[in-house]
Amino acid sequence: MYSNLERNISVSYARYGVSCLFFSAAKAYRVRDFEKYFEELGGRSPGCRKYLENVGFEHWTRTYYKGERYNIMTSNNSKAMNNVLRKANAYPIVYMIQFIREVIMRLFAARGKKVSKCNSLVTSEVDERFLQDLPKSGKFAVMMFGPWSYQVTSKSGEHYHVVLDECMCTCLRYTMLRIPCEHALAAAIHFGINPKAVVGLWYSLQVFSDSFQESVLPIADPNDVVIPQDISEFMISRFLGLLIW
Ligand SMILES: [Zn+2]
Repeated sequence: MYSNLERNISVSYARYGVSCLFFSAAKAYRVRDFEKYFEELGGRSPGCRKYLENVGFEHWTRTYYKGERYNIMTSNNSKAMNNVLRKANAYPIVYMIQFIREVIMRLFAARGKKVSKCNSLVTSEVDERFLQDLPKSGKFAVMMFGPWSYQVTSKSGEHYHVVLDECMCTCLRYTMLRIPCEHALAAAIHFGINPKAVVGLWYSLQVFSDSFQESVLPIADPNDVVIPQDISEFMISRFLGLLIW
């Protein structure tokens, strides 16, 4: 939905210069940030504002989205898989299934290799996110006010409330993504807690690894397959039935 809207706005409302404001409003975590960007967008183009209101905020904003966004996981798995399997569209059904099986085997093997090279508690994508936010985390003062709970204060005096065991921060980024924001990172590092241990469960390397532990069995040689008599008779009778029909 977001990418379709982005395309429509960049084409239909290009002359109003609202694309950046749309992006900022869509990516904002807090209502007050969303409203700031959306007000400015509406001031530049009431038509664009009306268009986005009619679409419904829950369909294109982080702020009003009702479910889990996961963020670094694609929300477009079906499209990605369709693209991978496009080549098999023209195959007869048996070959199509064989093709899908081989693709899944390759994907599972690649992920197994990826996990074997990783020494972290979290997947490599989440590790990269930590690296991005680490420099910013050094700019805050941190005070503990309860078990796992911290007040994090920026140099300009803004306060944030972080609860590490609930993956929560009042900036809402940590709350929504379950990956520590710079405030949560500051609190964890200040009190000697490994920030990679306080992420959403689904980002852990163990969960990622568990998701492809089932075996994808290779195809047996047809000459080695013993077909029970009742099945082979059933298949022959179906085949003859089709011929007669
Ligand atoms: Zn935060």
